[in-house]
Amino acid sequence: MPAPSSANGPSLAFEAVTKRYDGGTMAVDHVSAEIDAGSFIALVGSSGSGKSTLLKTINRLVEPSEGRVLIAGEPVASTEPHRLRRSIGYVFQNIGLFPHMTVAENIAIALRLDGERETADRVADLLDLVDLPREFAGRMPDALSGGQQQRVGVARALAARPGLMLMDEPFGALDPVTRDQLGAAFRRLHDRLGLTTIMVTHDMAEALLLADRVLVMQAGRLVADATPRALLAGEGGEEADALVAVPRAQADRLRALEGRA
Ligand code: ADP
Repeated sequence: MPAPSSANGPSLAFEAVTKRYDGGTMAVDHVSAEIDAGSFIALVGSSGSGKSTLLKTINRLVEPSEGRVLIAGEPVASTEPHRLRRSIGYVFQNIGLFPHMTVAENIAIALRLDGERETADRVADLLDLVDLPREFAGRMPDALSGGQQQRVGVARALAARPGLMLMDEPFGALDPVTRDQLGAAFRRLHDRLGLTTIMVTHDMAEALLLADRVLVMQAGRLVADATPRALLAGEGGEEADALVAVPRAQADRLRALEGRA
């Protein structure tokens, strides 16, 4: 068993966060939400609805035009971006492992920045954590499947023991089976480490199955904020209903097919 992490996720708050890009696009429009410590939040919406932009205001890859973001009550603007980012895990689609570095070296990048010793032991623990064999430490990224590479990406994001994980379509480029497995595995990891996770996805089924709470964005606005159960009960409003209708209709069609077989 890997050593238990001391990480414990912080609370998070968006206060009227607004982002207007140069050129005038209103990517995020006065979004306010409070997120409890330790919760798993899915940020859902169609392409261009502002999900990534909102996520990036948390680690200051994007600076809001108005409003502010607070982590555990502290405005992120009061922490220097590089320091802030070292305390936040960030996983995105096609995580971009360095191709000329081994898996261990890729994971250890964050460790070296922290000046941490016992790197090999920590890398082994992190590989355990994401269910990869320890002997993968010496492999090059191109000797790994896409799913295994994303697991390494998750290990790298967890290396500095963050309490907060930001995930931007983390499993979006994977085949459906791998995607499902990795999503469930990450949810277990979230629970075990007591993380706070914000995961951007355009896939409502994934959001409903993984998250404690789903925030729905449309044209920069937060148009629903509800539990999966409430969304399934039709309590999320029009845009949320439209997104929930897709996996529901697919499930219905599959059940009908099964009935006919
Ligand atoms: P999503 O993650 O929901 O697909 P984004 O946050 O990426 O949405 O984008 C929201 C809107 O902001 C889109 O209209 C997009 O074209 C625009 N946008 C995103 N990034 C930039 C940028 N760096 N400069 C200008 N416009 C941008």
